[in-house]
Amino acid sequence: MIRRIAIPSNCRRHAKAIEHMPADMPLQKYNSIELSEMPLRFAPDVVFIADLNGRIIFANDNAQRVLGYRLQELQNMTVLDISPGDRLKTYWLRLAQNVTDGQRHLVEIDLITKARQKLPMELNIVKMPNGQLYGACRDITERKQAQQRIHELAFYDLLTKLPNRRLLLDRLRHASAASAHSKKHGAVLFLNLDHFKAFTSNTGDLLLHKIARRLTASIQEGDTVACLGGDVFVVVMESLNVDLKEAAQQAKLFAEKVRSVVNCPHQLNEQTIHTTASIGIAMFIGHLETSETILKQAKAAMEQAKSAGRDTIRFYNHDIQDTLNRRNKLVQELRLAIENRQFQLHYQVQVDSQHQALGAEALLRWQHPERGLLAPGEYIALCEDTGLIVSLGLWVLEQACRQLRCWQAQTRFRDLILAVNVSAKQFHQSDFVAQIRRVLLESAANPAQIKLELTESSMLENIEDTIAKMRELKSLGIRFSMDDFGTGHSSLQYLKRLPLDQIKIDQSFVRDIASDPNDAVIVKAIISMSDALGLSVIAEGVETEEQLHFLNTNGCHVFQGYLFGKALPLDEFETALHQRAAENINPSYFDNPR
Ligand code: C2E
Ligand code: MG
Ligand code: MG
Repeated sequence: MIRRIAIPSNCRRHAKAIEHMPADMPLQKYNSIELSEMPLRFAPDVVFIADLNGRIIFANDNAQRVLGYRLQELQNMTVLDISPGDRLKTYWLRLAQNVTDGQRHLVEIDLITKARQKLPMELNIVKMPNGQLYGACRDITERKQAQQRIHELAFYDLLTKLPNRRLLLDRLRHASAASAHSKKHGAVLFLNLDHFKAFTSNTGDLLLHKIARRLTASIQEGDTVACLGGDVFVVVMESLNVDLKEAAQQAKLFAEKVRSVVNCPHQLNEQTIHTTASIGIAMFIGHLETSETILKQAKAAMEQAKSAGRDTIRFYNHDIQDTLNRRNKLVQELRLAIENRQFQLHYQVQVDSQHQALGAEALLRWQHPERGLLAPGEYIALCEDTGLIVSLGLWVLEQACRQLRCWQAQTRFRDLILAVNVSAKQFHQSDFVAQIRRVLLESAANPAQIKLELTESSMLENIEDTIAKMRELKSLGIRFSMDDFGTGHSSLQYLKRLPLDQIKIDQSFVRDIASDPNDAVIVKAIISMSDALGLSVIAEGVETEEQLHFLNTNGCHVFQGYLFGKALPLDEFETALHQRAAENINPSYFDNPR
């Protein structure tokens, strides 16, 4: 007998219809006779019936059409073949592992067609009395699109497609939470275009589009760029340094990059547009301030940038702003100082156990027009950061070689070895060796009287490059001393590989050598290690007779320090050396040359 079932208008009714079938009805019959005749076959939904293992028993015409499989193909598949992933699996298992008959689930899934197309569906699954599971899917593409549209309208700026204020605040809240956990700073950059109103609306829109794209391309993964409508953009930077000043410097560098990205001419409809931006920066850490407050601070800083003449960057935090202003001023002054030759070399004597002068270390001094003579502590690090050290270091080398050449004509000075400090950035310049060759050639200095002082960290920065350069320079006769030894992380393994001549014990160990047993042990170890490696050893920062005695009795016989003389300008150094020879060694003389 053929059973007639009414055409169901929705899936619940499909299921009801099938519920009337006897549980023991054979599958074949199901498919070939009854179901093929059933109006269910023509139902507008994607309908399938599967056993408890998920094996598909029946799929209606619409399922075959939508999925692109023939019935026979589907009957060799499981429901997970047409909807992979956990969603369907979870509900399927729940129903299969016997929850009561007739229980039903409404769940959103993706169906995957034979052509690998993904279709969002709302699936109604029901467990029928005969144990099988019945599923009816309805296409919800349109609904999804509408949802997506609502989401876009709610969270994105319509013109630029960037996150809007609402999403930005949400991201900022997450960034604050992450910062509370990692203890790292973050920064908010508030950017407003200068004179944007001068553009026509069409050009303005195109410009905003371009800027949005450039900003998106400039940020790092994990950072957010948002558009708060019109010509206001905000960037949230995360995972900056733990130290506020360092973090601010990172934010400043990025803001400068953003500024140049915005300032770079824009090609719009065959027109070249120039624009600038005012940028305000607020730093944040953890939950100290709410997201709204941070945003307000960044905006206030942007307004300060506007009133400072536009095309400018300003920090909300005044201390940071002051520090950066000072730093910027110093960089400008340093550039001028190099141009205007405001630098000079001072010389600090290096002596042996008999207090005979063996040589000197050339130490840089800056004759600042307002602040007087400045020691390198105030500007060397900045010169390294800005790359100015490369030209400054070259000047030092030229000057030192010229001095050696001058001394060659004077008996008292002709054998002095001159130690020159070389910074990592300078040493790792690809043409460093060529520079030295050129300087030697031009000055006609004797390379055997030059000793380059490098720190441990700069030697280890790129060890293969270091070794190659050192070997090449050594073949010219130049010597090497490892400066500030003990403050870095040199392992014996590296030390053995470096073609060094000398190790210079850092003054921090020498200072307390007589009072701190640890320092005494370290210094002894450095001396015996240098012996073992066949290197000479010099102690820097020797200020007292006690220190001198300790070093002498423990095998270090070359010294530099205030006990023998401070770094002096050339003429004073020369006078002191003459007098030292004449008075036949007075160790404290160099402290008071007069
Ligand atoms: P450094 O190479 O370790 O130089 C030794 C520093 O210790 C010098 O400071 C020197 O004046 C100081 N000093 C010497 N004897 C004593 C002492 O008995 N007691 C104390 N307390 N200090 C002593 P300075 O001249 O201020 O130089 C500081 C650092 O700046 C140098 O450390 C060096 O790393 C760097 N520097 C100096 N000139 C140059 C240069 O031409 N190029 C580069 N790249 N760095 C330089
Ligand atoms: Mg040095
Ligand atoms: Mg040193």
